[in-house]
Amino acid sequence: MRYLFSVLFLVIFTTSQAQKPKQLFIKAAKFYDSEKNVFLVNQDLLIEGDRIVAVGSGLKKPKNARLIDLGNSTVTPGLIDAHTHLLINQKITKDGLEVASKVPADERMKQALGFAKSSLMAGLTTVRDVGNSGQFLDVSLKEQLKRDETPGPRLVVSGPILSPPGGQFGRLFPADSFLINQEYRVVKGAEDARAAVLEHIRRGVDVIKVCMNTDNRVLAPDEIKAIVETAHQQKIPVTAHATYDESARDAVLAGVDGIEHGYSLSDSTLSLMAKRGTYLVPTDVSREQGKLRVAAIGMKGKEGEDYLNGALKGFHDRLNRAVKKGVPIVSGSDYYNDIPGIDRGKGSVDVLLSYAEAGIPIPTVLQFATLNAAKALGISNQTGTLKKGMKADLTVFKGDLEKDFPTALFAIEMVIKDGKVYP
Ligand SMILES: [Zn+2]
Repeated sequence: MRYLFSVLFLVIFTTSQAQKPKQLFIKAAKFYDSEKNVFLVNQDLLIEGDRIVAVGSGLKKPKNARLIDLGNSTVTPGLIDAHTHLLINQKITKDGLEVASKVPADERMKQALGFAKSSLMAGLTTVRDVGNSGQFLDVSLKEQLKRDETPGPRLVVSGPILSPPGGQFGRLFPADSFLINQEYRVVKGAEDARAAVLEHIRRGVDVIKVCMNTDNRVLAPDEIKAIVETAHQQKIPVTAHATYDESARDAVLAGVDGIEHGYSLSDSTLSLMAKRGTYLVPTDVSREQGKLRVAAIGMKGKEGEDYLNGALKGFHDRLNRAVKKGVPIVSGSDYYNDIPGIDRGKGSVDVLLSYAEAGIPIPTVLQFATLNAAKALGISNQTGTLKKGMKADLTVFKGDLEKDFPTALFAIEMVIKDGKVYP
């Protein structure tokens, strides 16, 4: 009888345990509030299953909740990278892209799963992958990450980049034209542009990425207009690769939601972006990563130093002008290279250091990678803020991220995504 009782008890106990979502009670000495854009001290968070159910100071820990006391670590909303290329790993050589694109699709997928894991472990709980992913390998990757519950960030994907004839390149040798068909969707006229957008949406993309300009070709005004109209009718945002000021301006006037890179944006284009609420994704690099890149290209001594200084000056100047004008800034790394000494996840998070080096205050740098990015990706009702009802996406940095940014940024203590604790 006693035996039966305990078996019965065990059955009841385990079923009730299984029904109740797991609770985590987190004590954070330092906490970044992305809406107020400030650091707070001594905050508690209660997570139930994949959601945050309470945030505040002096919360009472439920009896069955697992306590995670983070000591002196800093908690932020899970970081977001709005510009990744998980399906390409390109050496900085002349034929880098060609070689990387010849990697078979199944190998690219395998490699991308590794990069996804590396990104998550570096603190990124969401990334937006924007092309150079073959023909919709990004959609497959997104599905596989979800299905297999492989460690990786939440994915927002674009499918192949919509581009003018010639893809994203100035000049290609005829032998390399396989690249264009494999990696891009070339648009020929407004009708074709509309068809391309609808086809992408049918294939399951979350965002349309367009290449506004190569070295010598641009999308025509009626093409970009057709792309934006069609995508917006289907509630899908559009973001534009634009390195020149004129083509960025054309894209903004056509109504795109964001500009990627925008290395040479003029004050007047920035004013227009601020007025229309068009965001900028400055895909910049820090001095440290810049040094490794310059070395990888093979530039040495003073030549390399001058080149790097010039590039950094341009990045910092354009970012500060954009911020001053009131352009919404969204963090994005554009990290796709195979550079000795840099790991994919850390190489991506480095972009935040570049913003800090430009003189942007640390809380604002974090806002670029949390609240602003979540808004740009259309998921700010799920992530980007630590408050009741949001997905439990948290990045935990060892030490004081505000006071010791360059070190703490790369010292991840723990990542929580959808309520799951990593590592
Ligand atoms: Zn890119």
